[in-house]
Amino acid sequence: MPRLDFHPSGRHFLQIPGPSPVPDRILRAMSLPTIDHRGPEFGALGRQVLAGIRQVFRTQHPVAIYPSSGTGAWEAALVNVCSPGDRVLMFETGHFATLWQKMALRLGLEPEFIGLPGNDETGLPRAWRHGVSAEMIEKRLREDTAHQIKAVCVVHNETSTGVTSDIAAVRRALDAARHPALLMVDTISGLASAPYEHDAWGVDVTVSGSQKGLMLPPGMSFNALSPRALEAAKTARLPKSYWAWDEIVAMNKDGYWPYTPNTNLLYGLAEALEMLLGEGLDAVFARHARWAEGVRRAVRAWGLPIQCADAALHSPVLTGVITPPGVDADALRRLIHERFDLSLGTGLGKVKGRMFRIGHLGDCNDLTLVATLGGVEMGLKLAGVALAGSGVAAAMDWFAAQAPAHGLAQEPAQERRPLAAAA
Ligand code: PLP
Repeated sequence: MPRLDFHPSGRHFLQIPGPSPVPDRILRAMSLPTIDHRGPEFGALGRQVLAGIRQVFRTQHPVAIYPSSGTGAWEAALVNVCSPGDRVLMFETGHFATLWQKMALRLGLEPEFIGLPGNDETGLPRAWRHGVSAEMIEKRLREDTAHQIKAVCVVHNETSTGVTSDIAAVRRALDAARHPALLMVDTISGLASAPYEHDAWGVDVTVSGSQKGLMLPPGMSFNALSPRALEAAKTARLPKSYWAWDEIVAMNKDGYWPYTPNTNLLYGLAEALEMLLGEGLDAVFARHARWAEGVRRAVRAWGLPIQCADAALHSPVLTGVITPPGVDADALRRLIHERFDLSLGTGLGKVKGRMFRIGHLGDCNDLTLVATLGGVEMGLKLAGVALAGSGVAAAMDWFAAQAPAHGLAQEPAQERRPLAAAA
């Protein structure tokens, strides 16, 4: 076993956009003894987390939980509703949209991958600096008069760029085109950090994962379903067995799974749900928005461009920072890691070496972010980047001007156990 606790003192700063730092409360909950996954206590745990997770997706309908990474939940979404050769409309927003499209190809589907053309003044692809264009989706769906497109697949929070997309607008595009395609959305890195409404936005399958806003370790993923998606799964012909929703949804009614679920991650999920629902999702979203604004103020003060070029679509979860020409973003990340024990997200795919990503999610607070920005600022200076000003000072001004997010100034809440009440 390699030594992973080698930090002489203090904690490693894990400021990548997932896996996010896991709160101690959740780590402690996960250290409880594993129980019989067919026993009575387990059924109660299963019913509790299944009720709670629906509140996070904001859905009345079933949510399938898989012992897999997010990639598994992508596959589950596609194989449950598609048949060989089905056309799926996908939109290029970055690396993760590209990977989902590649998976669709491998599964024998015919993905149509559309996106904004060309590069912008930074030399980076425009598609990777903006969100999904609902207009382009509507136009393509109107052309598809034979309704061959089975599903529209988009990424809500593109983790490779820090750009969000307006999912309600995509829903309106499907409705305006009067197209019956299913709407499938990846919010692997958006869930429980960015506002999301599975039912109200008319999403048929929402894909998510444990290791981002839910503040859990990697290894658990989700498909939130709609009645239309469940209906489509009855006739879809791509082979599916482990991922098939029908048996999972049937056994989940009693709080069990058709296979061995990851019990200790479910303990962690129960704890995460207590924390998130106890705080209130709107307060959780406000907290992330405030952190994101502080980080963006720092980046602007440094005089560096933010990867997301559309002010309305900045991610509350992460901020992509474009390095000046000639400054290798990965060399900078390595320097910051070596000197300050701080991990930043690498540029992926088409933006490799041109940008880095600062995660502001998970077990984090204003001071964690001030320290993170301090590490980045010192690293930029050591790398010889000429800065316009102090990002740390700009962020401190922002955080100091905000009311406390942690609620310590208020009376401690009496007994906040929304899940116990729901179960
Ligand atoms: N989609 C998005 C938006 C992601 O951020 C990730 C992972 O970071 C994935 C899909 C793939 O998930 P995983 O790496 O858990 O398989």
